Amino acid sequence: MAKTGKIKISSENMMPIIKKWLYSDKDIFLREIVSNASDAITKYKELVKIGQAADTNEDFRITVTTDEKAGTLTVEDNGIGMTEDEVERYITQVAFSGAADFLEKYEKAGGDAIIGHFGLGFYSAYMVSENIEIFTKSYSEGAKGVHWESDGENTYTIEECDRETRGTKIVMHLAEGEKDLLKEFEIRRLLNKYCSFMPYDIYLNPKGTDEDKPVNNREPLYLKQPKDCTEEEYKTFYRETFHDYNEPLFQIHLNMDYPFRLKGILYFPKVVKQVQLERGQVKLYCNQVYIADNIKEVIPEFLMLLNGVIDCPDIPLNVSRSFLQNDKQVQKIASHITKKVADKLSELYRDDREKYESCWKDLSTFVKFGCIKDEKFYDKVKDIVIFKNLEGEYRPVESFFGAELSEDEAKEGKEAQPVYYVTDPDKQAQYVKMFRDAGLDAIVADSFIDGHFISFLEYKNPRKVRFLRIDADVAGALKDSSEQDEEIEKIFTELLADKKIKVETQKLKDTSVPAVINSAEFLRRMTEMSSFYHMEGSQEELTLIVNIGCPNVLALKTAGEEERKIAAKQIYYLALLSYRQLKVEELGEFYLNQRTILEKYLEK
Ligand code: ADP
Repeated sequence: MAKTGKIKISSENMMPIIKKWLYSDKDIFLREIVSNASDAITKYKELVKIGQAADTNEDFRITVTTDEKAGTLTVEDNGIGMTEDEVERYITQVAFSGAADFLEKYEKAGGDAIIGHFGLGFYSAYMVSENIEIFTKSYSEGAKGVHWESDGENTYTIEECDRETRGTKIVMHLAEGEKDLLKEFEIRRLLNKYCSFMPYDIYLNPKGTDEDKPVNNREPLYLKQPKDCTEEEYKTFYRETFHDYNEPLFQIHLNMDYPFRLKGILYFPKVVKQVQLERGQVKLYCNQVYIADNIKEVIPEFLMLLNGVIDCPDIPLNVSRSFLQNDKQVQKIASHITKKVADKLSELYRDDREKYESCWKDLSTFVKFGCIKDEKFYDKVKDIVIFKNLEGEYRPVESFFGAELSEDEAKEGKEAQPVYYVTDPDKQAQYVKMFRDAGLDAIVADSFIDGHFISFLEYKNPRKVRFLRIDADVAGALKDSSEQDEEIEKIFTELLADKKIKVETQKLKDTSVPAVINSAEFLRRMTEMSSFYHMEGSQEELTLIVNIGCPNVLALKTAGEEERKIAAKQIYYLALLSYRQLKVEELGEFYLNQRTILEKYLEK
């Protein structure tokens, strides 16, 4: 005789609320139901271990079936099962009150997403079902089959039923609008996402033949001891987990039990695009059950450029994100991961410099971003941040720094020794040549993050370094003597009166270059910053440094008025050309002048 009952807790209004709050994440119902099945098997195995249940020597498995005609999705396990009394207690009471608890927590968190959603459990299946049936039979001697059914709103029935096998079958009658879940590929996708490392074989619509293959990997590589894993296994695991057919650069295998449990593998992928920080994917698991991607409260933000899996059973998952952020344990986990990454990089730098350098182009964005985001990480890796110099040799960036100024010197306004840098060796070729001829060096800072990174280095080492782009200190770096020439200065000042450019004369070491543009570092950086943030740019401050060490320049003094004008203008344009592209009207005048010169030159 079927027993019916009223669900005691006030669940009438729970459904609409749950649907509203969790709508975007409702797929997690499958994880909840399958992990209940998995827990039921674990419980049974425990009982066998302690001799409370017979060892039946069977294969433990979870079967997921879709039935389009009936409109049902079924999850069945051969776990511990439930007696009638247990169904009453665990499902009618615990599952429903569990959901109520969950909602209360959710409200307390101010609607802030609850991290793992654990706690919603069985009830979450009502997000997609209009009715759910449970068929179950307990492991205990003489247990009878039990059938339970409820629409999840306020009533349920429970009765005895015929059931041969031990374990539980959950039949979800899917709601209108959820029928996509009956498509095998859709369920496969969800199983791959949430259940791919669960500890028991999961079969989807098995045919009962040898061809049936579980959809999951019961023993994901990260569970093994690092010493037992081969490079090939790491690569295969990477391919299968991230569907990235580029080989990763290398990986870090995390494996610890104390003071918290943490296992996982982090892979350094090849960063192909530099323009935007490619987002990686760090998947968080709890006891082989998928929780979410890129949980920044647990995994430091800069590590999200990596691909990886992290399994951490000690993270409280039924709490809100803001709680996690302030949780001491979680902070320890995050800093442990950071430390491991820094250690691995240092080890590679020390033991295989060649590989380190060959990976650096791909690694550097990540490392620099990590330094900026996390100063502790910077402290750990600052000796192994390398830059190429003008000769193309990699050196630690600190080896380019000058001697540290004393506090007094800094107070007196003395500036740290400059380190010059090029952002584009081709465009800045003229400057590079002059620097090399003068026996000076510079670092190549050509990645999009370098602008931010050098500012960061200055901020961290205020008395040790200031960075100047190779075109920002022409007089300071390339001057021969402090001679000046007012007459030459006047020629150019008058000529360029309508341009936003200052004029200065200097005697430079290189006598073959008539003039060079100098661009003030600070203003240029400001301009770059504003354009980075899409703001109206401030103006850069350009100076034309006319080289009075160059005979052509001195010859302007004795040239005829017309020739002087044209030649001086060309000197200006030549300098400009080494600095940037000419604008249309500049190019027009440049050509015209050039033709006049050619005509003179070729005159018979
Ligand atoms: P939780 O799993 O967080 O305890 P659930 O609402 O998911 O909450 O489940 C409530 C209880 O119902 C479980 O603790 C378990 O005792 C029982 N249960 C659920 N699914 C199964 C199953 N497949 N086999 C045996 N017992 C189950």
